This record gives sequence, structure tokens and C-alpha cells, in this order.
Amino acid sequence: MSLEELGDDAFDRLRARRLLAITGMTPMNAIAAMLNTALTLAVLWNLVEPWQAVLWAGSVVLLMAMAVQSWYGISRKPAPPQKAPARVENRAVIHAGLLALLWASPPLLLYDIASTEQQIFITAITSGLICAGGFALYTLPSASLTFVAILGSASAITLYRAGFEISPLLLLLLVVYMTILTTSIVHAAGVFRAQVLTDLTSEHQKQVISLLLNDFEQSTADVLWEADEELKLQRVSPKLEELFAIRKELLDDQSFLKLIRQSHAQLPSEQTELADSKAEEISTYFTMGRAFRDFEIPVWINRKLCWWSITATPTPDMQWRGVISDVTETHQARQQIWQLAHEDSVTRLANRRWFQTELQSSIQRSLSHKEQIFALLSIDLDRFKNVNDTFGHDIGDKLLKIIAGRLKGNTRPADLVARTGGDEFAVILRQVDSQQQAIDIANRIVETLEQPCRIGSLTVTVGASIGLAFIPDDGQRQELLLKHADLALYRAKENGRGQVVRFAPQMAVTANQLYRIEQSLRRAVSNGELRLHYQPQRHLASGHFTCSEVLARWSDPVLGSISPATFIKVAEDTGIIHALGKQILQQACLHARLMPAGMTLAVNLSPVQLASPSIVDDIVGIIQSHHVPFTKIELEITESALLDDSYSVQDKLQQLRELGVRIALDDFGTGYSSLSYLRRFSFDKIKIDQSFVRDLPNDPATQVIVKGMIDIARSMKMQVVAEGIEDEATLRTLTELGCDIGQGFHIFKPIAPEQLLETLVRAT
Ligand code: C2E
Ligand code: MG
Ligand code: MG
Repeated sequence: MSLEELGDDAFDRLRARRLLAITGMTPMNAIAAMLNTALTLAVLWNLVEPWQAVLWAGSVVLLMAMAVQSWYGISRKPAPPQKAPARVENRAVIHAGLLALLWASPPLLLYDIASTEQQIFITAITSGLICAGGFALYTLPSASLTFVAILGSASAITLYRAGFEISPLLLLLLVVYMTILTTSIVHAAGVFRAQVLTDLTSEHQKQVISLLLNDFEQSTADVLWEADEELKLQRVSPKLEELFAIRKELLDDQSFLKLIRQSHAQLPSEQTELADSKAEEISTYFTMGRAFRDFEIPVWINRKLCWWSITATPTPDMQWRGVISDVTETHQARQQIWQLAHEDSVTRLANRRWFQTELQSSIQRSLSHKEQIFALLSIDLDRFKNVNDTFGHDIGDKLLKIIAGRLKGNTRPADLVARTGGDEFAVILRQVDSQQQAIDIANRIVETLEQPCRIGSLTVTVGASIGLAFIPDDGQRQELLLKHADLALYRAKENGRGQVVRFAPQMAVTANQLYRIEQSLRRAVSNGELRLHYQPQRHLASGHFTCSEVLARWSDPVLGSISPATFIKVAEDTGIIHALGKQILQQACLHARLMPAGMTLAVNLSPVQLASPSIVDDIVGIIQSHHVPFTKIELEITESALLDDSYSVQDKLQQLRELGVRIALDDFGTGYSSLSYLRRFSFDKIKIDQSFVRDLPNDPATQVIVKGMIDIARSMKMQVVAEGIEDEATLRTLTELGCDIGQGFHIFKPIAPEQLLETLVRAT
């Protein structure tokens, strides 16, 4: 910055510094001046009248006395003056000029009449004074140059008047020395000025910064804090007092870190772990003397949990300065957003995303803390879908909330309970003492979930099956652990539900096989390797074959022949079913065109296929492209297809039915509320499941049920098919009960299409 930029009083400040630098030397200069005066009087006494000598010496002493007086006045002040007006500088110049004139009088007035020795004295003292005076006054160049100029001129005049032979040479020497001297004075004065300018600039900046900081503290919510080397708070401001909600007297000289730790002692227990780790982290910064910014830490202020964002930086003299902002509101808002993204809206439990993150961190922690046991519970509610279906989603949601509460009640705060799907939950048990303890907790959960739930006037009972996997023993990768816990869960369900099953490696072998089946099936579908078999259904009264069920067959070159029950399940689980289903329908359509006029082909349709939004278009497209009349195709669906979202499925079925496609309800009687499906959709046919047919001749109770089914179908104008007829007795009983159509090994085993055609030709 230049002096002008530093403001109007910058010149006064510079002047004050210059004068102070000279004044500081006054006592020494005064002593030197007295000594010089005494010596001069002693050496030149005989050349002047006593009064002249007294007048001269008195003037010198008076001028020095004035200088000493002003030095004394300044040194008594508590602080040296910061500014000096121009007139003070002028006075100093006059003072220096007068002094120079007094010291110029011996060479000017006495040189001619002095002896050689006295001349040498005058020359020596004048030269000495030029140099000493010039440098003593260099910080104020106007005074210094005046002093040097007067004495230099006096010397020149004296030399000239002396008329020595070497006078011109001496004059030249004088000019050279005077030039060097004045240049040095000007240069030194410039350096001094620059130095002062630097000081003034830094002072100015400090002032600006402090003004800005003041302004900043007034206008923002941020609070400045300062602490010494030991982190004890200094110069506590009212805003800091307010922030801590502690009086200034109790804050001053208190350790900043200690105050924060003290506040942590009162935090609710669920916050203490986080607070401790935060305090540990911030104390590391302080110990290492490292600056940090926006460090967020919880604090307990006025019996409330607050969040502060702290910034701190060490100063060069090892003190600390920084800013604290109260970010409680921002933190709460962030927390809410986080919760929305990580919580399940119905149960307020962790959602799948949060669960996966926590599972990942649990895996990492279990690997680094080997002595601790972590467990993953995969929980599936039994019969929840039925509750939802029967009583509606409202009751379903309420039930889920009760379940969530029971899960929470049976776990500790450190454990994580998550809802990972419709009726699927997962729990991460952290730090259990033994594997048995985890198994006990899981058993307790099963027991609790089996207790009836009261929702308004309703009492609903569900149950739960749990698959248990230990981390990291049963897997060190997230997907693997989840898969293993799920395999254990499947086993629990297979075992008859309401059980806890721990994952065992043999289960993974099954999973591997399923994986191999999946891979081979993909290949088989893309190579069109699947074949169709047909199982004709016989009209029991007439003996005619009016319909044949289409059954997929697959034989893999390596895995051998695989039953549809297995590969259809794999295809459903992996989504292969969509491509597979289309292929089957296409083949069936090709065959349908070869069949005699009265023969319908019944194609099985999986619930997964039915859930596809494009299923109607797909089916219609395939049938039309093969120029097969819609009435030649029958679709068999199972009750489970109607279980979820039944309206949209009913719509789809209705669209197909309106085109002429026949719809049959397969495996009738095995579902939860078979009869209710009959009310919702009017089927063309129902197929009584094999389980009712098997022991029919010897089981009067089943006969009553089957008779009921037949009567209902007849009254609703639906055809009835009995599946799985394996012997003559069953066939007879069914005929007696009035069943329309029979299907089973006793009538026909599933056969290849060419065989079917042959059979039909023979039969007609
Ligand atoms: P489903 O639709 O109930 O088919 C009838 C099953 O009963 C067939 O088994 C058939 O071979 C078998 N069966 C027929 N008569 C008798 C009998 O007298 N005794 C016994 N014990 N069984 C008999 P398959 O072919 O093994 O098919 C099993 C299931 O796989 C089918 O049950 C069906 O749900 C599914 N499936 C088969 N083919 C397809 C297909 O092309 N698409 C779809 N989505 N599912 C299919
Ligand atoms: Mg079927
Ligand atoms: Mg069936």
C-alpha cells in the first residue's frame, strides 16, 4: 500500500516515527555535543573574546537543552505519540539548521586567525560533525540534509578562502564525500520510510480485519472463539457466553475441550458413543496443532441436544482461533431427509438400503473385531399375504407395525431391525456373546411373532420363519450372506414354518445346483431345446378327447432330464419364464393347427407371466401370428396368480376370455380360499387337484368335498376336470360323482405330439 492509500494521517504517522527515532538518541547526542563544545572552547579559547565564547557555547547548550526537554517530555508519556504534524518537523529542521550554523561559525570566523594546530582541530571537528550529525538525523532527511548542507558549505567556503595550493583538490575531495554522504542519507531515509510503511500497512490491515470480524460476529449466527496454547478460552464474547449458556466468568480460562466433554456427560445414552468418538477426533486435531473446518459435534446445551460446527486454526504463537456455528436446525433437517431415504414409511424400521449399508459395515467390523459375534436373521412372515388379502391393506399395515414393535422389543438398541420387503424382515444382531445367544434371540422372536395380534376388534395370528447366518463365518460378502440366510429361511419354511434354521454349507450346494440349472436353462431356451408333451383329457360320459394339457419337457445333455416342477420354479425365480412361456405357446400353436377340429390345447400360465404388463398382447400376438382360432387355446392358471393385485390379473384374463380364449383354474382346492376366487372370476373350467383325487374311492369325506366341487362348478356353468386319475376305481368313482372330464396316467400319460396325433386319428 502507498502512504496516500493508508489515509490522511499516514504522513503524520510517518513523521512521528521519524522524529521518535531521532529523539531516542537525544541523551547520547547531547553528551557528545557538550563534550565537543567543551573541547572547542578549550582549543580555540585564545582566538575569541570571553563573551563571544560564552554566547556561542550558551547557544549550543540552549539548543541541546531544548532537544533534551522534548525527549524527556516524550519519554514520560505512557505511549509515544503516534502522529506528528508538519510543524513539528519544521521545528526540527530549524533546530538542526541553527545547530549547524553554530558549528559552522568556528571554521567561517576563526580559521584565518587560527594556528596550524587549531586549524587541524577545526577541520577534524567539522568533518566529524558533518558525518555524525548527518547520520544521527538520517531518519528525518530534511533536517539531516539541512545540517549537512550548512556545515558542508561552511567547509567549502573556508577551504576556498584559505587559498592553499591544494585547496582545489581538497574541495574536490569535499564534494566527493558530501555526495556519498547525502546519497547514503537519502538511501537510509528511504529504507526507514519503507519500513515504517510496512508497519503502517500491517497495522491498517489488522484494523480492517478486526473491524470486519466485529461486523461478522454482529451480523451472523457464527461465534468467534479464542483459546491459548492450553486451549483455555480467552476474551470470551457475549455471543460465546450465549452459545454455551454459561456465564463469562465460568468460561474464561476454561479448557474448550473440557467444556465440550462436560456437556457430553449429560447427553442421552444413544448419543454418547458418537459424541465420544467425535470428542476423540477433535482432541487429536488440537494435540497435533492441525487446523480443521466445519467439524460437526453434538453438545448438550440448556437440556437440549444441539449440533455445533467448529472451525479452528492455530496462530503462529500457538494460540487457537476459530468459529462455532450452531447447526442444530440444519442437522435436524438433514436427519429427517436421511430418515426419509433410509426408513420404511410403514414401520419406521430401517429400509432395504439402510440395511444393506449396515450389513456392509457389520461385515467389516466383524472382520476387524474377531472376538465379537454378529448374526444376520432373515425373517419371513407366514400367512401375511392372506391377512392382507382378506382384511385389506390397512389392517395389513397395522399388523406390520405391531410386528415391527415386537421385533424391536426382542432386540437391543445396538441391533438393526429392517423391513426388507412386503412381509420380509431382517435383523443384524451386533455383538452377541455366543452363537447360542443369537439362536435364543431368534427363537424368542418366533415365539413372540406367533402371539395373536389385536387390531381393533380383529384378532389376527401370523407366524414367522427365520433363517440365521453368522457374520463372517457364513460369508464375508453381502450377497453371499444374504443368500445363505435366505437359504436357511427356505429350509425353515420347508420344515413346516415357525422355525429357526441356521445356515449349513450343504444348503449352498443346493444353491449351486440351482445356479447350474439356471445357466443350462437359459441356454436351452435360447437354443429352443425344450419339447412339449401332451396329456389328453377324456370326456367321461362320451369317451371323447376334447382337450390336451401342454406340459413342458426338458432334458439337458449334462444334467439329464429335469422335472418341470424344478425348472419352472427356477425360470420363475430368474425371469426366464417370460421367454420360456412364449416359446411353449408358440410350439403349442404350431401343433394346434395340426389337431382335429374339436381339440383344444391347455397351456399352463405361471403367475409370474401373468404379472407382466404385456402378457395379453404377447399371447394374442402369438396366437394370431399362427392363425390359430382363440377358441382352440385354453390357459391354466393357479390360484396363486389371483392372490396379488387380483384386479389387474382379472382384467387381463377377462380381455383374453372375451377374445375366445378359455380360462381354467388349475389345482383347485389347494389354495387358501379357493371358493372366493370362483366368485371373483368366471372360469370356463376348474381342475380338481390331484390331492383330492388320490384316495377318493376309499375316503368318504373327500368324496363329499369333491361332490361339492362338482356341484358348485355345474351350478356356475363351468366344466370340471379331475387330475391325477391313476386307476380304474378312481375313474369309476368320479364318473359316479358326475365329474365331466378326467385326466391322469390311467387315461393317458403325457405323450409327444406325434403320438398324440396318432392316438387321436386312431380314436376317431
Ligand atoms: P399341473 O399343471 O398341475 O400339471 C399336471 C401335472 O400332473 C403334470 O406334471 C402331469 O404330468 C402330472 N400328472 C398327470 N397325470 C398324473 C397322474 O395320474 N398321477 C400323477 N402323479 N401325476 C400326474 P408335470 O408335467 O411334472 O408338471 C408339473 C407342473 O409343472 C404342472 O402342474 C405345472 O404347474 C408345471 N408345468 C408343466 N409344464 C408347464 C408349462 O409349460 N408352463 C408352466 N407355466 N408350467 C408348467
Ligand atoms: Mg396344469
Ligand atoms: Mg394341476
